[in-house]
Amino acid sequence: MKIARDTLNFILEVCKSSYPKEFAGMLSATGDVITDVVVVPGTESTDESAVMQLFMLPNIRTVGSVHSHPTGNTRPSAADLELFEAKGSVHIIVGAPYTISSWTCYDKEGNTVKLEIVDYEFKENEENW
Ligand code: ZN
Repeated sequence: MKIARDTLNFILEVCKSSYPKEFAGMLSATGDVITDVVVVPGTESTDESAVMQLFMLPNIRTVGSVHSHPTGNTRPSAADLELFEAKGSVHIIVGAPYTISSWTCYDKEGNTVKLEIVDYEFKENEENW
């Protein structure tokens, strides 16, 4: 699995602008490249946790999740591990100060995985929508 550089930058920005609250969303991919972040409607964000209302999730294919840890510690909590297991196979935790080096990617079981950053060309008028 890979992630588009622009998508990662967007994630870092939105995590930064949510600070000191947590940001949470779902990841969606084009082929094997993560290209989109889906913000789940009704996500309740506090400085403690962002609880996603998963039943509100739009009917699209998602490959995993992303959320921020304002504490800067990117280790998954017990609740995070439950979400990882339930939803997809790629899970990003971004810690403050939300720079290119302050995020960690995990698999379903909570093991650290390497996510390659690629330059992905976003097409403006994609045909088969
Ligand atoms: Zn967490």
